[in-house]
Amino acid sequence: MTETNCTKCGGTEFAEGTDYTAIRPLDKKFTTGSIKIYTFCLKCGEVASIRIENPGKFRK
Ligand SMILES: [Zn+2]
Repeated sequence: MTETNCTKCGGTEFAEGTDYTAIRPLDKKFTTGSIKIYTFCLKCGEVASIRIENPGKFRK
C-alpha cells in the first residue's frame, strides 16, 4: 500500500469500510452488483477513495 496523506488534515492513518450498498452495471439491473469500499482518514473521516470490490463484474 502506498503512503497516502489526507487532503483535509494531512493524516496518514486510514481505514477501510463499506456500507454494503451494491453498485450495479447500468445495463444489467438484475445482477447482484458489487459493494463499494471506502478508504477514509481515521483522524477526520475524510473519504480518500471509494473503490468497487469486484470491478471485473462490469467488464463487457
Ligand atoms: Zn483527515
